[in-house]
Amino acid sequence: MIKYLDLQKINASFEPELSDALLRVSHSGWYLHGEATARFEEEFAAYCGTSYCVGTGNGLDALTLIFLAYRELGVMDAGDEVIVPANTYIATLLSILRAGLKPMLCEPSFETCNIDAAYAETLITPRTRAILPVHLYGRLADMKEICELANRYELKVIEDAAQAHGAVWNKVLPGKENQPLRAGNLGDAAAFSFYPAKNLGALGDGGAITTHDERLAATVRSIANYGSTEKYVHRYQGINSRLDELQAAVLSVKLPRLDQDNIRRREIAQIYKEGIDWQRLELQSTVHTNDINEANVFHIFPVFSPRRDEWQRYLNSHGICTQIHYPIPPHRQEALKKEYGMQQLPITERIHNEELSLPISPLLTNEDIERIIDCANTFI
Ligand SMILES: *Cc1c(COP(=O)(O)O)cnc(C)c1O
Repeated sequence: MIKYLDLQKINASFEPELSDALLRVSHSGWYLHGEATARFEEEFAAYCGTSYCVGTGNGLDALTLIFLAYRELGVMDAGDEVIVPANTYIATLLSILRAGLKPMLCEPSFETCNIDAAYAETLITPRTRAILPVHLYGRLADMKEICELANRYELKVIEDAAQAHGAVWNKVLPGKENQPLRAGNLGDAAAFSFYPAKNLGALGDGGAITTHDERLAATVRSIANYGSTEKYVHRYQGINSRLDELQAAVLSVKLPRLDQDNIRRREIAQIYKEGIDWQRLELQSTVHTNDINEANVFHIFPVFSPRRDEWQRYLNSHGICTQIHYPIPPHRQEALKKEYGMQQLPITERIHNEELSLPISPLLTNEDIERIIDCANTFI
């Protein structure tokens, strides 16, 4: 059996450093808001190239805290609108709703599965305050178009970088001089998740925001700590959302290998791209050879087929585990049906109906990948 993602194998490959780090925290007597968290925040900010990183309890909180902080700073008011791709994990939308703002669902382009900036422009109203690109499947959204649009309408750009740790933007970006720039440093603020299966994953929940905006970072830090900067003094009606010392220590062990793992993911993508008989199989790929570069860290390797479910059963019966990202789009979920169920979003729906994710763990061997390709190429 080839697992979709063998987390046991991945985390074992960081031993003995991983266990040493866990024991150091365990023995330190300090478990929250301590040295390990401060150190990881510093390392991750340096890695992303931003002035600030604030650890949070998870990725959903990281996104939510950015919006809550903008509300406290008077940048956004209740009911203001945020443009967001309709084809994303539900967390992206929930963060906007939890902050009392309104998600405006935008179609992606099928070619990239990322937000379509031209469509986004049609959704802009006097209440629009922000655009929230999601770097879906690990591929950076077109940040040049998004930033130009945001500049023209004075919108904030908030990246959902939960799937794109380490992705690099190598092209020009309006208002930003230093090249190249990483995910997390391409807009006004960004949210990351360190859910165990992400490219940089903890041994439980974790998240972070990155930004150059000092006031935003300080406000996020305070809201995440019950609205407090000084013990028992509360300026905001905050929440409790912490990256804990154990997770931070784990992430500090894993961060130095992130680039190498992302390179391996790209190698695997290249082997899939060259090996699969796309045309004969009537299997579609949104990954083109010139997309296999630093702007894509292949959190997921998606393939598309109207016969997706047959494909999944076929591969599974040959010992190959796949996943679907995601079977039901947010606007078709029971939780959001009342507000969004009537919307017609054909590209989004096509992606959710046809997507299948092949294994792309950086620890898969070339033999594993060849086995998957050989199996796929015998599908009838
Ligand atoms: C994983 C993920 C999140 C949420 O992260 P959690 O840490 O699980 O809260 C948000 N957005 C996207 C695109 C994700 O993939």
